Amino acid sequence: MDEMDEVRALVRGVREHLAWLERGGVTGVPRRKGLVPAARAVVSAPVVSAPVVSAPVVSAPVVEAAAPPRIVRADGHGREGLRVIREDLGECFRCNLAPTRKNIVFGVGSPDASLVFIGEGPGMDEDRTGEPFVGKAGQLLDKMIVAMGLLREEVYICNIVKCHPPGPGTSPNRAPEPDEIEACEPFLQRQLAAIRPRLLVALGGVAAKALLHTTAGIMALRGQWKSYQGVPLMPTFHPAYLLRSPDKKRDAWSDLQMVMAEMDRLGLPRRSTPAR
Ligand code: SF4
Repeated sequence: MDEMDEVRALVRGVREHLAWLERGGVTGVPRRKGLVPAARAVVSAPVVSAPVVSAPVVSAPVVEAAAPPRIVRADGHGREGLRVIREDLGECFRCNLAPTRKNIVFGVGSPDASLVFIGEGPGMDEDRTGEPFVGKAGQLLDKMIVAMGLLREEVYICNIVKCHPPGPGTSPNRAPEPDEIEACEPFLQRQLAAIRPRLLVALGGVAAKALLHTTAGIMALRGQWKSYQGVPLMPTFHPAYLLRSPDKKRDAWSDLQMVMAEMDRLGLPRRSTPAR
């Protein structure tokens, strides 16, 4: 069969197909003498054998999933900045300490501190000033820090809750409730992730119990290394307790000496001359 025979067979097939459609009741089928347009095109087109080209096997490009937006960083090393965390906290109303507070007490000190002190919550002086540990207890803490061979500016100081828990009746303070700690603790954890301290000190039983999720008292916890968020933590007495019970200062100093020894072992600088 030559090329014209093939075309005639094609046209014959098209006509038979059209007739079959009409017998089946299909309307609108073009009835023109001669070839239908498609067949005419086939007839008029030069017969050119297409070259057989083997298509190369190409793997579909791998489309990477869009990376999640990066949190604004402060130090260029992938750490979230304290300023961003403070902005996220905003005028916080996440727990019922908000209505009675005067100031959120976020924290103070070096954003690169190797040592962080964590208390239980702001007192009245801290609520008034917005800075942690500024009253008499704060002055004693400053002395303890200097005795360790450090300065207040070289460490970081914060609390497990950032708003003052007002005491019942005439009592100025109370311990924060579990739901208040739960609401505020994520911000403490973000602060620690930003600072990346090597060592922590929990000041007082309330802070130690909250951080360690234990019911054990400070007498049982103090003087032993624990861990919070993977960071070694030393529980010791709260400075306010030491003001009321000065006989416990010797034990507190013993705890801090363990912290100093660990700092020295880790090669962490203590610029001031420690007290003897
Ligand atoms: S204590 Fe913490 S969670 Fe509660 S209102 Fe203050 S900042 Fe917010």
